[in-house]
Amino acid sequence: MCNVISEFVSGLGEIKQERDVLLSSLSTFKIGGPADIAVYPETSEELITAIKAAKRLGLRYTVIGNGSNILFDDKGYRGAVISTGRMRELKVEGNRITAGCGVPFTALAARAAAEGLSGLEFAYGIPGCVGGAVVMNAGAYGGAVSDVLESSDYYDTLSGETVTIGHAEHCYRYRHSVYSDAKERVVLGAVFALTHSEPDAVKAKNEENMNARRSKQPLEYPSAGSVFKRPEGYFVGKMVEDLALKGFSVGGAQISEKHGGFIINRGGASAGDVLELIRHIEEKVYREYGVRLECEIMYIPEK
Ligand SMILES: Cc1cc2nc3c(=O)[nH]c(=O)nc-3n(C[C@H](O)[C@H](O)[C@H](O)COP(=O)(O)OP(=O)(O)OC[C@H]3O[C@@H](n4cnc5c(N)ncnc54)[C@H](O)[C@@H]3O)c2cc1C
Repeated sequence: MCNVISEFVSGLGEIKQERDVLLSSLSTFKIGGPADIAVYPETSEELITAIKAAKRLGLRYTVIGNGSNILFDDKGYRGAVISTGRMRELKVEGNRITAGCGVPFTALAARAAAEGLSGLEFAYGIPGCVGGAVVMNAGAYGGAVSDVLESSDYYDTLSGETVTIGHAEHCYRYRHSVYSDAKERVVLGAVFALTHSEPDAVKAKNEENMNARRSKQPLEYPSAGSVFKRPEGYFVGKMVEDLALKGFSVGGAQISEKHGGFIINRGGASAGDVLELIRHIEEKVYREYGVRLECEIMYIPEK
């Protein structure tokens, strides 16, 4: 493995990279052991170069944004974790914003507000990047990426081509897109079509959404947001509360007292603790409600 990593580093040229990176530093859960190498491309070209270098060597890799919907393994990751958080190109033209996949979603919403563009207020406070949000169809407070996305660009790791797709081709539904099923596609950036409005009105809506988050979500602890997708006709937080599971812990992982849909890291939680807690909730909910919960958080195993 050591030789492969060294060859990979040679193939990266000037692209920033770091060996033996603790993945807890790349995830909002603050959980995860060491990755063999983390790569930090700043442009689409650098991202594509890194992927091509990994593929040439048969090196396993995964592309992440801000790691706010991810649970890394306690043993880390064998291969390369490619973190897109530095790909922050941003361009405003009329009512359209073009953003690189690493633009923080909250920064995008703030920029839209400053430009007097409405439509991304729901995004203010979602701690992911544009790429992760486009993949997950991130949403909140009645809005979602699918409401404002016009097109996205992706790199097809199978054909080696860069492709642009329009809204319809994203096949958007709740927390799901065409990218959820096509892991060979890496989102490079997206165009959002917004509506002209007053900057102060958009800023006020952003703040209102942020305040709602602060009052309902355990933002004072590391987490990966809602653990489960919302099942049709139910609210996970309410079911967890009714089952008296709020505050239940395994090791350092706890079901939040503030929001039953969140698992928080109270300090020193392992991925194993979180996975055990997830299984416990799934089992209790199934027994009581006959509902099979679906995880929203992605678990990334060591190998
Ligand atoms: C406190 C808190 C609150 C949250 N609130 C919300 C909310 O209100 N609504 C909501 O929808 N989500 C919420 N989330 C979850 C999370 O922020 C979103 O799912 C977000 O869109 C994930 O973006 P990310 O950049 O962190 O993606 P990551 O977690 O890094 O990745 C998520 C998935 O997308 C893939 N991916 C990332 N970038 C790319 C790319 N460029 N190309 C291809 N695949 C890629 C990854 O491989 C992974 O499978 C919350 C999370 C936290 C911690």
